[in-house]
Amino acid sequence: MQIECEYSQDKLQELVQRVDDLQRELCKPNAPKRELVSTIQKTLAEIEETKLKLANQLEAPLQPLSSPRVFGDEITQGLPEYELVAGKDTLMRVFVGAKEPVLAPVLLAKNLSCIEPTLLKGLQYDLPVFGATRLDFATLQVSGPLGFSFEVPAQMSGLFTNFSKSLSEDDNVNFYIPGNLLNCVGSYDFVARFYRDGALVGTNDLGTYQFRDTKDLRLLVVVDTWSMPADAWPTLLRSLEYLQRNMPIRSGIAPLDSDLTAGLRFYIDPVPFNPDWPAWGPVAQYLTEFNQRQASSGKPDRADKIMTVRTQQAGESLLAGTGQQPGNISGVVLNVNPSGSNYFATVVNQEIGHNFDLGHAQSAVISTASVFDLLNKNSLPTAFNIMNNPVGNNESRLFSAQDWSTVRHGLLQLDSTGPT
Ligand SMILES: [Zn+2]
Repeated sequence: MQIECEYSQDKLQELVQRVDDLQRELCKPNAPKRELVSTIQKTLAEIEETKLKLANQLEAPLQPLSSPRVFGDEITQGLPEYELVAGKDTLMRVFVGAKEPVLAPVLLAKNLSCIEPTLLKGLQYDLPVFGATRLDFATLQVSGPLGFSFEVPAQMSGLFTNFSKSLSEDDNVNFYIPGNLLNCVGSYDFVARFYRDGALVGTNDLGTYQFRDTKDLRLLVVVDTWSMPADAWPTLLRSLEYLQRNMPIRSGIAPLDSDLTAGLRFYIDPVPFNPDWPAWGPVAQYLTEFNQRQASSGKPDRADKIMTVRTQQAGESLLAGTGQQPGNISGVVLNVNPSGSNYFATVVNQEIGHNFDLGHAQSAVISTASVFDLLNKNSLPTAFNIMNNPVGNNESRLFSAQDWSTVRHGLLQLDSTGPT
């Protein structure tokens, strides 16, 4: 299609040139005016025909993108192995890269080990890469199960200099699809269109994917025994953002009884309360009484799980958390000496994971094709398992695909709301 199009463009220029030449002929003395005018008219008609042909070609469905090269695509809610859930923020990305060869000759020479180094002496190696492949704009058309469709623009650098598939968000065309646009359970079709210099240069059918049902998680957080210091609160709230990222729930975090379409809803009671660990009794009773109050005051939400939270106290060694497996109760401790804020969200996620009947993982690392942090919008080099003990930093910990599925089935047992 591209070659055909260029051919028509060349032909058009040739015809325009011919009209110019004929007009010049026409001005010469003794020119065969009648024949020349007739030829000019015929050529003008041919120009119109070629223009029409070109226009039709531009509107015709284009071939898949060839420049930049396409190395594949991926749809992910964290790990590409996850079964997709309706309503959750999703990344569809197209792995692209520069066409070879794009390096300046000197750079190419430097990369060739067969070239004698003395031959390259005095040459500049830091010349800019030229011919790197560029895109100005890309858009993803998403057609949903009820026949509606919408478009999402790409986030990308637009300049691609990598020669092979790169997992970095900087080297690819990223379509971040807000979860609320995927709120219907069912199958979605994805088509990407790529533009350069104002023209469509590729159309790629990225396939059809099923988005499954799930339920929202409603969490009651209570403060255990000692008042929470002010600087611990942001860490707790941040851990809820990671909980939302890591769980197979739809997007959104909101207080209980407010936005009933938020995948994670919570209520925090900041008044210290003695949970009497390791007995579960007072905590179970707290949850029951909370839900009774919710019912008697006509509020729509009930808490599905309860979690106690506190900071490490003076003289205590490093602590983590505990959770019923399976069950509704957990307790977590934020270490302060030294600070545990960089792994606290993992503790919260692991205890809730236990509540959904997940045991500890044998291996720290999850075997996966790639891992993407949709909260911070960046690719991660390695996926570590939330359910591994000891815990590790918040950003790189996710549920394995199998655990994700187990949690989703557990969520579906809840008497909660969810995408339909
Ligand atoms: Zn554990």
